[in-house]
Amino acid sequence: MEMVQDYFGCMVFDERVMKGVLSEKVYKSLKRTIDRGVPLDITVANAVASAMKDWAVSKGATHYTHWFQPETGVTAEKHDSFINPAPDGRVIMEFSGKELVKGEPDASSFPSGGLRATFEARGYTAWDPTSYAFIKDGTLYIPTAFCSYTGEALDKKVPLLRSMDALNVQALRILKLFGNTDVRCVKTSVGPEQEYFLIPEELYRQRKDLIMTGRTLFGAMPPKGQEMEDHYFGSIKPRIAEYMADLDRELWKLGILAKTKHNEVAPAQHELAPIYRTTNIATDNNQLTMEVMQKVAQKHGLVCLLHEKPFEGVNGSGKHNNWSISTDTGVNLLTPGKNPYENAQFLLFLSAVIKAVDDYQDLLRLSVATAGNDHRLGANEAPPAIISIFLGDELSGVLEAIENDTPYDSSARQKMQLGVGVLPEFSKDTTDRNRTSPFAFTGNKFEFRMLGSSNSISCANIHLNGAVAEVLKQFADTLENAEDFNKALQELIRKTIREHKRIIFNGNGYDDSWIEEAEKRGLLNLKTTADAMPKLLDKKNVDMLTYHKIFTESELHSRCDIMLENYTKTVNIEANTMVDMVSKQILPALSKFSGDLAKNLKAKEITTKYETGVINTIASLMDEIFDSAVALENAVKELKKIDNAIEASAYVRDVILPAMDKLRKPVDEAETLTAEEYWPFPTYDKLLFSVR
Ligand code: ADP
Ligand code: MG
Repeated sequence: MEMVQDYFGCMVFDERVMKGVLSEKVYKSLKRTIDRGVPLDITVANAVASAMKDWAVSKGATHYTHWFQPETGVTAEKHDSFINPAPDGRVIMEFSGKELVKGEPDASSFPSGGLRATFEARGYTAWDPTSYAFIKDGTLYIPTAFCSYTGEALDKKVPLLRSMDALNVQALRILKLFGNTDVRCVKTSVGPEQEYFLIPEELYRQRKDLIMTGRTLFGAMPPKGQEMEDHYFGSIKPRIAEYMADLDRELWKLGILAKTKHNEVAPAQHELAPIYRTTNIATDNNQLTMEVMQKVAQKHGLVCLLHEKPFEGVNGSGKHNNWSISTDTGVNLLTPGKNPYENAQFLLFLSAVIKAVDDYQDLLRLSVATAGNDHRLGANEAPPAIISIFLGDELSGVLEAIENDTPYDSSARQKMQLGVGVLPEFSKDTTDRNRTSPFAFTGNKFEFRMLGSSNSISCANIHLNGAVAEVLKQFADTLENAEDFNKALQELIRKTIREHKRIIFNGNGYDDSWIEEAEKRGLLNLKTTADAMPKLLDKKNVDMLTYHKIFTESELHSRCDIMLENYTKTVNIEANTMVDMVSKQILPALSKFSGDLAKNLKAKEITTKYETGVINTIASLMDEIFDSAVALENAVKELKKIDNAIEASAYVRDVILPAMDKLRKPVDEAETLTAEEYWPFPTYDKLLFSVR
């Protein structure tokens, strides 16, 4: 029986391996780079490269790749083998420090939003030694950052690292004021909970929409959906359990801390959560997790769908970004402690997050904006598109007491009575659960719940880190100059609560009354990507992100364009796929079905309600489908004429998406009328309920 602790991380060039294969001097020098960002000198790089290669070759690797995260949202890789010709006609396996540290992929085909013209195709990948290299499918993967010849970030890793730096700098200023001079660095950590669907591969293969777009563009609700609520945390079916076990094993080999797995709310929906880690590693791990999830599914004859809304009418998939800030001395700065009312340092960091989320609602909202995620937010299955914070009763009580300058009675904290003698009594969590809040305090961390399942978590964390860094900067500026620190501190906390309490909402976020209430409070409700994304270029956002050197202004412009183009292209492909399915599959199937009904009717020489009724209804639905498909096709032609990214995205929102809805409706209606054998692709009941 193989034991997890024996094979965990066996494919990772981690600290344990480094210690074993590097000389002490090289190891120490590399550690200085990893822990403190001290530049690596080339002799050290050469030694590391050679040891890495020997280790990888001993594990069967033949190639290496600089693994990076361009703005497409997925990861990119180009594989080079280690082979080098030897004079005797044989080969030796080689890998130099230069090859480890820097790569030069042909960058011209990656989106750059105008940052790099195709003729200046040079882009560089640079080794990120803070994220471990690993072996997958016979290749040594080296996590890298991707930037242009002129040093502009072309990926999601560079700005993420910059945002972590920014937060580190500002948090240290605050900690110093509290006398915490032993802290050398502050890092954010993240545990992303990942939702996904699993469906049988043979059914997937029969649906062009799933293949081309990752979601079903047509499909009537099956007789049973998720209304019985019998799937959430339900017992796991054997085939799924085997998949999950295999997935865990593969992730563990790659050193990924896969921890929790369970069924989710929708049928065929599941979740995996790892143990949290430093943000950039958690981000790399999450990208890898999504990839491994899909690959392992294939081995089990399944397809793993990571789209935010694969099926209409049942919950889509998101990703919960559990986030906190900790010091290198092991203190979580978001831990309230026994008595939060008297924990001024905690209260200051808490206030900073509250203000940051309020001041930069738009940045947080747009950090999760994609065509896929727009289907979830506000659809009563995920938080609305409005950002608010859930704090829970105790902390809200504490803040209220501070705001009103009244004492807070911490003994009010209740004990939980389970009413069963044998069960231990435990203190109620300081936060009750609220699943409807987009940004919830959950004891010692915040859970940002608006992310889409297929999103890279980088963007959300870049903007979150940046916003909090900015507020900490403002706080530090005030407090460093204060004559009486304690007095200034109290005033600052009180003022912050007063000015930003509008962002706190402990009620039901799915309730319509909240939308009205939020509007009264002046909170933003950016419903779609087309509404949200242009806000990236608002002056206050550009000022903040450039001040903290997270983005340059031109990087921001390019990113806004790329994200909007991504939205437009995604919907454009969906629209084309719909038209294709309608003309090549759906209308012909309806014609055949109603034609056969007509033949049957004629043969019988009597009229029946079934045949005549269905023939007539289908005839009118076919006309509606035909007209709507033509309208959609024409709309797509118009879209092609718009070259401004913002205008195109608005057209998608206002014209294309409604035209798609208009086409879907009669098709779904026709599906429910059509005999099963005639319908050209598998329906929802099969997709969602056939795995045993
Ligand atoms: P739930 O589903 O109740 O929200 P889970 O246990 O599924 O909880 O997920 C909680 C996630 O939060 C896990 O990934 C966990 O590692 C992570 N987490 C716990 N503590 C922290 C922390 N201090 N910083 C970041 N993430 C954390
Ligand atoms: Mg959660």
